[in-house]
Amino acid sequence: MRLSQMLWVTLREDPAEAELTSHKLLLRAGYIRRVGSGLYVYLPLMWRVLQKISAIVREEMNDTGAQECLLTQLQPAELWQESGRWDTYTKAEGIMFALTDRANREVGLGPTHEEIITAIARDTIRSYRQLPQHLYQIQTKFRDEIRPRFGLMRGREFIMKDGYSFHENEESLKETYYEMDRAYRKMFDRCGLKFRAVEADSGAIGGSGSQEFMVLAEAGEDDILFTEDSSYAANVEKAVSLPPEAVPSHFDKFEKVHTPKKGTIETVCKLLKCDPTQVVKQVLYQVIYDNGTTVLVLVSIRGDRDVNEVKLQNELTKLASIYGGKALINLQVADPESQQKWAHSKLPVGFISPSLDDSYIDKSSTVSQKFLRLADRTVEHLQNFVTGADEADYHVVGANWGKEFTLPTVVNLDKAKEGDRAVHDPSQILQTARGIEVGHIFQLGTKYSQAMKATFTNEQGEELPLVMGCYGLGVSRLAQAAVEQSYDKDGIIWNKAIAPYHVIVTVPNVGDAKQMDVGERLYTALDAAGVEVLLDERDERAGVKFKDADLVGIPYRVVTGKAIADGKVEIVNRATKVATLVEIESVVEYLQNELK
Ligand code: ATP
Ligand code: MG
Repeated sequence: MRLSQMLWVTLREDPAEAELTSHKLLLRAGYIRRVGSGLYVYLPLMWRVLQKISAIVREEMNDTGAQECLLTQLQPAELWQESGRWDTYTKAEGIMFALTDRANREVGLGPTHEEIITAIARDTIRSYRQLPQHLYQIQTKFRDEIRPRFGLMRGREFIMKDGYSFHENEESLKETYYEMDRAYRKMFDRCGLKFRAVEADSGAIGGSGSQEFMVLAEAGEDDILFTEDSSYAANVEKAVSLPPEAVPSHFDKFEKVHTPKKGTIETVCKLLKCDPTQVVKQVLYQVIYDNGTTVLVLVSIRGDRDVNEVKLQNELTKLASIYGGKALINLQVADPESQQKWAHSKLPVGFISPSLDDSYIDKSSTVSQKFLRLADRTVEHLQNFVTGADEADYHVVGANWGKEFTLPTVVNLDKAKEGDRAVHDPSQILQTARGIEVGHIFQLGTKYSQAMKATFTNEQGEELPLVMGCYGLGVSRLAQAAVEQSYDKDGIIWNKAIAPYHVIVTVPNVGDAKQMDVGERLYTALDAAGVEVLLDERDERAGVKFKDADLVGIPYRVVTGKAIADGKVEIVNRATKVATLVEIESVVEYLQNELK
């Protein structure tokens, strides 16, 4: 491609809309343009990168025997009503764009495709003889994200590879799942990414395993915890650890103590000369279920620890049926504003005990009349602990479960953190890193097949729900993540596997007929040899062209400058900036070798 003919505009200044370096660089180097919130056009250079990534994904997927297909982006509401996700996706979470067609039918724009594929499997799979099956597609997804940001990282329209597998049993599912694990690692390796596979939260679906693939980058939105010995890595949402041992309490007698204005762990510990690990603190949450029921949740956790809200959400989802609901639509700390709506009288905030009286909940309010009390494992074995006295400015010390307080239902709600000991080996200490989630593979089980009655007949003639797996990979997010991991002060440094072009031939002075002639000859020869090449024969200053070449990040630059007098050109490696003089006649061979 000749740059003089390409629609290619670079920007000198950093665009104000961008925070992340990768986002700035893709805008500045003319890869993408924003047309609205979370909406980006992939200009020709970007499209080439996306095609390269897609080709790698396709090759590795096909290699496993998975079959490519293309599902519809417009999805009938009925299918989502069958799976029970229509209301949560269009209303509660509001992530799905929904519209009504001319015949008054509701349809949604696909944020994901479990419903469509399960409907297809229901219609086409009858017998165990047809199993296993694995279908995938590479397609644009639509999600009305709450906070679209960081360019292609979190768009409202983005490209995803999504695959879905069907099996007769868990064992067969696991085989495909582990095969996908290997295939994903290959894809990311081939794209030149530094990544880590981590245990992930499986959300409300529960039970079976799931794993995320994180591209390691400071700018990532996800926190990862891992151990040096590489045997443990997990998303912080899912991570477990051994919290530090509690310091034994020096209180040996139960009593109420005056702790004026000491409503925080830090201040009360200072006053009482105790350790935060001796305190049972209460955190009050408010959950709203999909049937409209509000429940107040009183979580008791050790003073030095924090609640992992993803774990809490999973526990509360499990309990939904007790309150007549299926899913939860909102979970938040019951802040003073929300307290005004249901609290009968002012709560002793900062001084709450595990047995805060249910009578605080106003009878006339629409919330469940009893607190749902949960205790994290960190408080289960505490003795002679400190906690609130349910009275402003008072605490109790020397308290014990089974004596002064009833131990609530014990669950794991503790947020693992850096410095904690690892469960698999307490001598290993958890460390943190930040990552960008580029893939998520998932053992779904029978959640969708059961709800949508997608069954098959096994060898014994029994009718069973299909066992499913799903495997997502963010193609457009991956492209930007690659930039976030590889740039310098001058611009992008593409890995040659996904660069839009391999080589840029820069003619410093287009007025010089010899320079132009060598440039044209090399351009034609490289192109004929199958090297993807750009020719910069724009009527611009040499400095501008060099800057642009660095910015756009093409792996090799060939300069038809002064050295042509000696029959040579300069070849500059974008990543290392090392310049090599190469005989004009050997350029094709030299570059073919480099690109191998
Ligand atoms: P996140 O937690 O980042 O919102 P997710 O859990 O919603 O991701 P999945 O539903 O598993 O993501 O989608 C599969 C992949 O699609 C993700 O791993 C990610 O790479 C990509 N992806 C998800 N949402 C977006 C988005 N808004 N923009 C670009 N890529 C996305
Ligand atoms: Mg998401």
